Amino acid sequence: MRRVFCVKNLTRDAKRKRKVMYRLNHFNMADGLQLQPINIGHKDYIGIISADTAFWALVRKGLVSQTLDNSPLLRKYQRKLEVFNKEMKDLRTALKPSAVYFNPTDCCNLNCSYCYIPKNLRKNGRHMSNRKLLEALKILKAYFKSSLPKARVPQIIFHGAEPLLNKEAVFKAIEEFAEDFRFGIQTNGTLLSSQDIEFLKSRRISIGLSLDGHIPRVADRLRKSWGGYGVFKKVIELIDILRGYDNYSVICTVTKENMASQVKMIEFLHRMEVPTCMLNPVRCTLSPSRKHKPQDMDLAKHYLAALDRSYQLYKNSGRKLIIANFANILVAIIAPLARRLMCDISPCGGGRCFFAVSSSGDMFPCSEFIGIKEFNGGNIFRDDIRDVLETAPFKSVTQRRIESIEPCSCCAIRHFCGAPCPAEAYGMNGSVETKGAFCELYVEQVRYAFRLIADNKEEAYLWDGWDRDTRTTFNIK
Ligand code: SF4
Ligand code: SF4
Ligand code: SF4
Repeated sequence: MRRVFCVKNLTRDAKRKRKVMYRLNHFNMADGLQLQPINIGHKDYIGIISADTAFWALVRKGLVSQTLDNSPLLRKYQRKLEVFNKEMKDLRTALKPSAVYFNPTDCCNLNCSYCYIPKNLRKNGRHMSNRKLLEALKILKAYFKSSLPKARVPQIIFHGAEPLLNKEAVFKAIEEFAEDFRFGIQTNGTLLSSQDIEFLKSRRISIGLSLDGHIPRVADRLRKSWGGYGVFKKVIELIDILRGYDNYSVICTVTKENMASQVKMIEFLHRMEVPTCMLNPVRCTLSPSRKHKPQDMDLAKHYLAALDRSYQLYKNSGRKLIIANFANILVAIIAPLARRLMCDISPCGGGRCFFAVSSSGDMFPCSEFIGIKEFNGGNIFRDDIRDVLETAPFKSVTQRRIESIEPCSCCAIRHFCGAPCPAEAYGMNGSVETKGAFCELYVEQVRYAFRLIADNKEEAYLWDGWDRDTRTTFNIK
């Protein structure tokens, strides 16, 4: 039974002793400890979760009643309850933006069927000029200088539409602000030459490449140019050039059309020595993307098979292919504060860990909201960033609480899932105060993650050094 947290101190208070006993003996009643058993689908273990603090334990099936009856586990947990509560509160409310998803253009040379950016914007939108892009980064530099600790370098991710349609401005910005930001590019790859790759590699820029399948028939089905041509071949050439570079990943959008190929995709990416990938279920924010939504349990079946396959490949070759969106959930369970992606927690990272800037300088809580004008909080050239973060559109995302969303408020895994995603929830249900898509997929991912932990397999799914800067504060066996 294990719980790893990266906290500093444990405070003890003898005065609370009586209350401690009360909480231990009256769990799930009044202000007693909240403990929910969950079926993780393991032959020997079940899970016990205290959902508010994201505390959990795996308990041998025959020992459940013994564990719940004033056991050392509960006494130890009780003593740390306040610390864990504070950690979750800080994680959910005290973080400051440290990254920006920056769209240097509205346009894209592709016309993927599930794209979350409205078609008209991608076709007829505009680029941000070189001058304006540099001006925006100057504003962001000043903002982060005043809001972040000195040692913390903020991140700028040039993002879709297709940022490299405005390559000259983007590369100039990377050169000019090399000391001030860590840069990343999320691209469809079609406009990258080998010289561009050398430029990006020489500056350690992180690169995210989109690819939806292991063969053209799968990859090009929904991702194609306006003229209907696929881009599989071009992306594969880039992956070949990138071999050996550790700061890139391949992002696969999973739809009902390609979900059955996830195992093949993992085999292919592993063969190509890709270090990291994401198997991202299609975001259902706009109606065109919802047409491609797979059924949760169908998707889960193929997704978990892909996770299994990545494990076998690692065992056979000694080389990991990290599936980052799953690894993030695993880390969220083992060490909640060490998670990297912020979609699986409520409130999500949109507007509080990062925000998005469109090609006109308009600011949104997340790129996923670009194209939904109700979520425009202001403009980076006209408004103070601090004021924008406090506007109603931003607050509707940053103050979204899973506790007021049904049925998530009662869900034991609510802090490993977060009822994602507010943009998707708004698109699907007209309100961010509802859950997004893929609830059952989350359930299956979390159960799978607990099974891995029960079998001591979790390290095989995590990036090397994931626990740097963390320390174990709860580990009882
Ligand atoms: S490449 Fe990205 S931005 Fe362009 S159409 Fe496809 S999903 Fe949309
Ligand atoms: S979306 Fe589903 S799994 Fe996620 S918190 Fe809500 S009820 Fe739980
Ligand atoms: S959950 Fe949605 S809105 Fe929030 S950060 Fe993730 S993609 Fe953006």
